[in-house]
Amino acid sequence: MNLIDLLRKIYPYVKPYKWLVLATLILTLIGSLIAQVNALVLDWTVDSINALIKPEGFEWSRATNILTYISIILLGKEVLSALITYAQHYFGEKMRILVSKDMSQAVVNRILTYRMAFFSKKENDTGKLQTRIDMGVSSLSSTVQNIFIDLLPLFTSAFLALILMFAANFYVGLTALFIVPVYIWITIAQAHKLQGWRQNMRGFREMKSHGIMGIIESMNVIKSFNREKIESQKQWDIQTKFTDNQMLVRKTSFYYDGLKSFVRQVGTVLIIILTAYLVLSGYPGMSIGKIMYHVMLFSNVTAPITQLQRIFDQLNDALIYASGYFDILDAEPEVEPTGHYKPEKVTGNFEIKGVDFTYPNGNKALHNINMTIQPGMITAFVGLSGAGKSTIVNLLDKFYTPDCGTITLDGVDLREWDTKYLRENIGLVLQKNHIFDGTIEDNIRYGKPDATLQEIEEAAKKAYIYDQICKLPNGFKSQAQQLSGGQQQRIAIARMFLKNPPIVFLDEPTASLDAIATEQIKQSIDDIKKGRTVIMISHNISQIIDSDLVYALQNGRVEQGGNPDEVYRKGGVYKDIIDASARSLNIEKLTKTLDPDGDGVLFD
Ligand code: ADP
Repeated sequence: MNLIDLLRKIYPYVKPYKWLVLATLILTLIGSLIAQVNALVLDWTVDSINALIKPEGFEWSRATNILTYISIILLGKEVLSALITYAQHYFGEKMRILVSKDMSQAVVNRILTYRMAFFSKKENDTGKLQTRIDMGVSSLSSTVQNIFIDLLPLFTSAFLALILMFAANFYVGLTALFIVPVYIWITIAQAHKLQGWRQNMRGFREMKSHGIMGIIESMNVIKSFNREKIESQKQWDIQTKFTDNQMLVRKTSFYYDGLKSFVRQVGTVLIIILTAYLVLSGYPGMSIGKIMYHVMLFSNVTAPITQLQRIFDQLNDALIYASGYFDILDAEPEVEPTGHYKPEKVTGNFEIKGVDFTYPNGNKALHNINMTIQPGMITAFVGLSGAGKSTIVNLLDKFYTPDCGTITLDGVDLREWDTKYLRENIGLVLQKNHIFDGTIEDNIRYGKPDATLQEIEEAAKKAYIYDQICKLPNGFKSQAQQLSGGQQQRIAIARMFLKNPPIVFLDEPTASLDAIATEQIKQSIDDIKKGRTVIMISHNISQIIDSDLVYALQNGRVEQGGNPDEVYRKGGVYKDIIDASARSLNIEKLTKTLDPDGDGVLFD
């Protein structure tokens, strides 16, 4: 991306604030004019005082007049300049903040429309996306500020000073004009030289903070293996590379800064000599005051340019980060596809035929899947971790599109279904359901934003969590994230009761819960299954054998399917898994513990 592309991309975000831009530009122009006042006043003062001083003496009253005038003009100019600078900064900052707000919102709105496939890509890891968005927004909005608050006034002021120099004397103007490009050329050379190292600095900074975060997160492992020294050495190596790079950047910067300062001084000396020569040789219009006048104008030409370096650096950053940011915004093929089919009633009869699926990272997760999900029944997916069970559910929820094959729901291809409508009719209960920062009431209401409090309480009752919520000091207004894992899971189920979808996918809903919590939520899970089409993914043997239909998966293929007891009797993957689960329970010993007197009655 080059500067023109960058400006074109930023333009739509600046357009709504064109009045702010205009106000800033007008202020810029006034500010640049005012900046030349000092030089003009000094020119006039030196010449007036010079004219006043005569060998026979001078009139104090005239001198006082001159001093009064210059005091009023200079102080008045300072007041005006302060007001203008204030307004200019205020408008500029306002613009930066508003543009930054719009850019942040634009990217949030955009990523909400993306398919899950977008988020599965390695380059779109949560952390990486966040850094790209944060850095993109902040560097782009500072570019807006740089251009309107720094760069424009800088060039306008330098340009005006240069015109005044030419107006005063052509040769003096020419000298200044010759120095400026040399100065800018050195600045650009400096920016180029530093660019790679500055990029390295960013890399080192990220490595440093990742390293520290990694240490803190794995502190127990580090300590248990006594690996403190190794970790310290790793950090030391990063720090050393970082500081070496930092020193290189500083050293080079100082070298170029010195060069620029020298060039500026050479310019000043040339202008003093030239003007003095013109004054001494009686060039028309050249008075002694012009020496000061020209030196001050020249400093007005060069002073703003000293800031170029910083602006160059920031623009370079913006160019680097902007492409990361705009890539997120412009990822067109990532937008979720949708059809228009919205039937009155959804029963949940899924037919999957010949489906293959590969994740965006190239991981082929499903091979030639064929299965039927009967409406109003409980279908269990059984298989080892990584067999592809959740992937099927992801396809049924249209989070991803199959590579080949077809999936129909109630006889209509999933691609023709209105995606939003489809998801309204599917409830998803996961191993860890996201409980948002907020009250219990808000969290349950997530299932139906316009639900009344009564409906929420009703849902909580169905999820067997109502009594527990009532016992909390703030009841439904308590913070949901403070609840235990089992309670949070029931909040998620209450959310589902409120949504009341005809189809429910339960993806290991009890996997992260202990035995007591699992038993506590069993009732609510059993209730949510009633009268719905259910797909149940579970390693929990009791939940599996409760199903009407099972599909046993292995390495992304359906190995067996049918009535659980019949499939078990046939032997194979399903039997292996059920037997292993039963053995892991140590059933024989368990039976003895539960039935010590051997009368066949458990729990007595
Ligand atoms: P299961 O639910 O049976 O444990 P999954 O459907 O989660 O299995 O995973 C099936 C395969 O797909 C595994 O090899 C897993 O590593 C891979 N996989 C799952 N999710 C992703 C993803 N977002 N990106 C890439 N590969 C994935």
